[in-house]
Amino acid sequence: MTNVRDSAIYLIDFGEPVLIDCGSGHGFENTITNMRKAGFQPDNIVALVMTHCHADHIGAANLWKSYFGTKLVMHDKDADIVERGDIRLTAAFCFDVDFKPLPVDVRLKGDVGNLEFAGHLLRWVHTPGHTPGSISLYMEENGERILFAQDIGAPLLAEFDCDPKAWLGSIQKLFALEADILCDGHSGAYGPKHVVREYLEYCLHTQYRNGYLGSGEDG
Ligand SMILES: [Zn+2]
Ligand SMILES: [Zn+2]
Repeated sequence: MTNVRDSAIYLIDFGEPVLIDCGSGHGFENTITNMRKAGFQPDNIVALVMTHCHADHIGAANLWKSYFGTKLVMHDKDADIVERGDIRLTAAFCFDVDFKPLPVDVRLKGDVGNLEFAGHLLRWVHTPGHTPGSISLYMEENGERILFAQDIGAPLLAEFDCDPKAWLGSIQKLFALEADILCDGHSGAYGPKHVVREYLEYCLHTQYRNGYLGSGEDG
């Protein structure tokens, strides 16, 4: 952890290093220190791919842009929220972030797509529900599929316009990916494959149990 208000931050070394999410900004200096200790230079990061518009995941994006000129990538539907600096839908006040309108460099449009870094594919799939433009990312490495599912376990709160019906469709997409490793936005990494499935089932049952998906489970 870099700061308690930060989401998980993942750095993928494709030869060209890529970041998935960047935290709230409160832990920005710690993030840079950790990265340098791990042998990476922040100005070499070729892209910051943002899973969704919440400030615990993207509050530091303006710092990455202004200090290092990092290319900012996110789904079209959350880019609208970020570019207008919406402090409710970014949940900025929950994380003590003074969120200002932020231009996004690359808008991902549609349901699925590929990003390519040094000849390696980082695939994305639109997984709305937690936010309108949430994405999950996955890659293949040594015959294993690694999934960055981010805030799949978060409560579907009406005050942030979460969409339970869309979320149900999205978690089915995540089950169908049959990932070997799942990297979560807050709670760490899960594996092997049957543990990933159990974690997704746990997220699904928790949403039902807490009443976010209506009454009764459909199995
Ligand atoms: Zn989060
Ligand atoms: Zn979130």
